[in-house]
Amino acid sequence: MNCAEFERQLMIDPACSESAFLSHWQNCMRCKPEADKVWHMNQQIKKLLAVDVPPRLSSRIIAEQKKRRKRPIRRLF
Ligand SMILES: [Zn+2]
Repeated sequence: MNCAEFERQLMIDPACSESAFLSHWQNCMRCKPEADKVWHMNQQIKKLLAVDVPPRLSSRIIAEQKKRRKRPIRRLF
């Protein structure tokens, strides 16, 4: 894998676990600083997304529960 291929793969998927990609990351002094920067950015984005999901999820659950409460209660007997 050369530098151009590495950079392309980095933009597509910085979490790529291909051995050619990882060994270029470790061994190329030209690409490593940039790859580290992209990887850290990607981690931060993931963290932000992880924080953003629960509030939306809980409001969806509350909305779902309100809908259920509106349904008439069926008597079993
Ligand atoms: Zn390189």
